[in-house]
Amino acid sequence: MSHDPNCLFCKISQGLIPSQKVYEDEEIYAFKDINPAAPVHFLVIPKKHIPMLESAESIDAPLLGRMMELAPRLAKEQGCRPGKDGGFRLMVNNGADGGQEVYHLHLHVMGGPRPWKK
Ligand code: 5GP
Ligand code: ZN
Repeated sequence: MSHDPNCLFCKISQGLIPSQKVYEDEEIYAFKDINPAAPVHFLVIPKKHIPMLESAESIDAPLLGRMMELAPRLAKEQGCRPGKDGGFRLMVNNGADGGQEVYHLHLHVMGGPRPWKK
């Protein structure tokens, strides 16, 4: 598994920095956002250090697919209501203009009753 020793989210996925874990398997880690913008707000990350969405390669496509597939299941487990009246938002910030602050690819999963902070 390729990690960047200076990367915050690599450290979190390896348990070197504490986090509120939501899910973990061999290649994916999910944890609650430290500054939630919605009643439910967690991040899904690959354990492999991929800095941005645009640095992902074709070989990473199944991994990205698995992250997307996991999101609805974890959203429900974290309290998002199912169906049309419930749901959640998925967001990937890519680069400075996209609002990316941490350069380890992550999927924001946000949900819960509105209004939200953002
Ligand atoms: P970005 O702007 O890069 O898409 O989002 C980074 C997210 O990571 C932000 O929502 C921020 O609150 C969250 N974050 C930053 N540092 C930490 C941390 O140390 N622990 C946790 N759990 N979340 C963090
Ligand atoms: Zn990393």
